[in-house]
Amino acid sequence: MIDRKRVFWFILLRLLVVSVFLVTTLYLDVHTYDVSGDVAPKVLIRLIVATYVFSLGSLAVLYYSRQVRTLTYAQIVWDLILVTVMILISGGVTSPYAFLYFLSIISASTLLARSQAYYTASLCVILYGAILDFQYYGKLVPLGLSPSPAHQYGAEYLFYLIFLYCAAFFLTAILAGHLSERARRSESAFQEKVIDYEELERLNSCIVSAIDSGLLTINPAGRIRVFNRYMEHLTGLSQQQAYDRPLAEAIAGLSPFDSCFFEGGQGEFRHQGGDGRQLLLSFKSVPLTDKDGVTVGAIFDIHDLTEMKRLAAELKRADRLAAVGELSARMAHEIRNPLAAISGSVQLVALRPRVDEKDKRLFSIILRETDRLDGLLRDFLFYAKPTQPTKIPLKLRQVIADLCSLLSTDPRLAGVTIENRVPDDLVVVFDKDQCSQVFWNLLVNSAEAIAGEGAIVLEASAVRSGKKGEVRISVRDSGSGMNQADVKRVFEPFFTTKKGGTGLGLATVYRIVETHGGRMVVDSAEGAGTTVTLYLPA
Ligand code: ADP
Ligand code: MG
Repeated sequence: MIDRKRVFWFILLRLLVVSVFLVTTLYLDVHTYDVSGDVAPKVLIRLIVATYVFSLGSLAVLYYSRQVRTLTYAQIVWDLILVTVMILISGGVTSPYAFLYFLSIISASTLLARSQAYYTASLCVILYGAILDFQYYGKLVPLGLSPSPAHQYGAEYLFYLIFLYCAAFFLTAILAGHLSERARRSESAFQEKVIDYEELERLNSCIVSAIDSGLLTINPAGRIRVFNRYMEHLTGLSQQQAYDRPLAEAIAGLSPFDSCFFEGGQGEFRHQGGDGRQLLLSFKSVPLTDKDGVTVGAIFDIHDLTEMKRLAAELKRADRLAAVGELSARMAHEIRNPLAAISGSVQLVALRPRVDEKDKRLFSIILRETDRLDGLLRDFLFYAKPTQPTKIPLKLRQVIADLCSLLSTDPRLAGVTIENRVPDDLVVVFDKDQCSQVFWNLLVNSAEAIAGEGAIVLEASAVRSGKKGEVRISVRDSGSGMNQADVKRVFEPFFTTKKGGTGLGLATVYRIVETHGGRMVVDSAEGAGTTVTLYLPA
């Protein structure tokens, strides 16, 4: 790779050197040329003008073209020609300009490579040797160069001169080649390192801004410097707003810890987030040191523990509830057996011939209440210990139609019309018994809310939510509806507003829908009816 800048400076340098020659030739009247008459200065001036034109042309080519290598070769060749002509017109053997060949060799090694320096040195030896030889044998007389000075030196001295220059040219080539090679290598190594630093810096800032935990640094005065994107999200402050603010002021919860900021501290604190939420945050600070180990600040790692703590508390509560559920399910099971015995015995006693009417009424109260108790226990057992569902594809419309014919004799549904608008081909993957149980509970609730004349409408359709598909099923009634406080509590076990209700119907439905991977929403207003909507995975 040839450095364009270097070629540019090289051409400028040559223009300068040539200008110096021009000045010395024209004004200082230094008669170094031996060639006869006025020819020499004319040739020299022409040569210098040509060199100007060539150099300016080269600069233009350098600016517009990509062919830097060819252009560089052309510069070296031109220089060799220039030097050779100058030697020829300034007396050949006696010319003082032979040293200019060294400049050509040095420029070849700095602009191109070591091998090109050797080629140039070889060319210089050939050219200079040829000048001396041709002059000695009188071959340069047509150019105006007399062989007499060469003869005065003698063949032996000329041979010695050629040998001396040859050695000097190659030594220069070796030295300059070696030096410029080293310079090139360290330059490229330096450049590689610069690229690495840039890459590292970009990577660093990428990581700092992308990590899912708060990261900030402070200077020794306790003022904020780095403030990453997650910190912005936690505090609602932008990096600009936070920059240079005292940390204890920007995050008030941290102020009790300010004595240990620079010694590596850790702790938990409460913080009001940008959106007004109360957050529980944890921090860990590490002193930030420079390369000599002097503390130049501190770096803070901040985590949001709010969600984790909430989940932990919820898990603990769920655990406790599960234990209570297990225990009460066992108890309910144990109560059902004696209950069956009581109701069976009472029925037998009631069959005896000498039971009067008053006793019969008492017996029927016992039977009714044991029945109710048994129903409650059955519901509770199902709620507390639901059976594992066997999921199969079901035609929802058919399931609801079967349920309607089963409910047609139920007195609670007298006067209620059920409109089954579920599409024929809609299929849900559900446990068959649990599916009936879900809609049985919803229909009975609606019928009880209607209490007389009214309608229940069932609708279903496939919908898209995000990437996955869902089946939306709604049960809408024209019943009494409920207030918003009740809507919030309908899924709580044992929440009921009915005399004799168990409050387990919707809790059970919710649990079944949940185990099938679905969710449900209740929409209601007092006097405006209720819509229960289930979303099941398709
Ligand atoms: P229960 O029917 O035994 O009371 P549920 O869990 O089925 O228990 O219902 C809980 C409560 O939610 C009911 O007591 C009632 O107040 C309210 N509720 C449920 N469904 C409806 C509905 N379709 N319309 C009005 N209120 C309802
Ligand atoms: Mg109910």
